[in-house]
Amino acid sequence: MAEGEVTTIVPTRYWHRLGDGRVQCDVCPRYCKLHEGQQGLCFVRARQNDRIVLTSYGRSSGYCIDPIEKKPLYHFLPGTPVLSFGTAGCNLACKFCQNWDMSKAREMDILADQAPPALIARAAQELACRSVAYTYNDPVVFLEYAIDVAKACRELGIKSVAVTAGYMTEQPREEFFRYMDAANVDLKAFSEQFYHKICGGHLQPVLDTLVYLKHHTDVWLEITTLLIPGENDSEAELEEMAQWVAANLGPDVPWHFSAFHPDWKMLDRPPTPLATLIKARDIAVKHGIRYAYTGNVHYGTGDSTYCPQCRNKVIGRDWYVMTDWHLTDAGHCRFCGNRIAGVFEGPPGSWGAKRRPVRLREYAAATS
Ligand code: SF4
Ligand SMILES: [Zn+2]
Repeated sequence: MAEGEVTTIVPTRYWHRLGDGRVQCDVCPRYCKLHEGQQGLCFVRARQNDRIVLTSYGRSSGYCIDPIEKKPLYHFLPGTPVLSFGTAGCNLACKFCQNWDMSKAREMDILADQAPPALIARAAQELACRSVAYTYNDPVVFLEYAIDVAKACRELGIKSVAVTAGYMTEQPREEFFRYMDAANVDLKAFSEQFYHKICGGHLQPVLDTLVYLKHHTDVWLEITTLLIPGENDSEAELEEMAQWVAANLGPDVPWHFSAFHPDWKMLDRPPTPLATLIKARDIAVKHGIRYAYTGNVHYGTGDSTYCPQCRNKVIGRDWYVMTDWHLTDAGHCRFCGNRIAGVFEGPPGSWGAKRRPVRLREYAAATS
């Protein structure tokens, strides 16, 4: 096998045999029950030789260096570059998916790039990235690969970031997040009907993941809610959701309200008006959330971080570009000394808004 190539089909652990001859995948609450040769709903886990395998190990739809703010993570090593990649497949079927070319890919031919975990970690280090992000499609479906990459990263002092819908079961959840340092979890709505009708899933497992992350791990957590006109943006739902977040996760989990753009199977809805995002942010603030943001729009107030004690702007942002920085290296407000929640290690990075694609295979050849 040439350097940089990896086996793409690997055995998995979370499954069991059913009395009727089928094999059930236990990674997510879909619990796909498969006959020999069948794929799960996520397309990348399948039954082969009487067991469940992951068929996309080591393969990627591409690597890119992004600003960490784009994940979005606003309180985790601000200003630093993150080496981001995804594979294919997803365990939810959101009609509004903004990454459907990758997440809904049934064919592996979009997975053009191949990389063993150690190569990704080494590339991240040599490209001066502080972290690697498992993103674009949900890492829950390729958790064995994500975990191996995260282990290799940890050995080199590179952190791992999961961008996920959090739709998973208890044991895989515990194993997966043991290797993550930060997560942005989608809270897509606050109704079972939305999760069921629009995403083909359930709300409760997502709430379980959020509570688990906040109270049983050291993973730095931020939340994103994509607001879709007429689907999840009513005042009543936002009030209920904010109440739940404040009561169950506390005031210090940053919350990003982002704007919807018509995509995939949902082309009949208009983009989210700025007023809706501002309303959602105001409701979160009213319920005591200290760091509520608006995303995918130009609105400086909603992009920036304010000290909850003295109310001064401590991190100014214009989209992904940092415009002000008034924190100490350890994350204390320079105006009043209050500690801002988050992971701050030294001065902020200066990556800016750049997006730089990386071909790992060429990189391997060039650096070996
Ligand atoms: S991870 Fe994939 S195969 Fe497993 S239950 Fe979920 S959708 Fe089905
Ligand atoms: Zn302050």
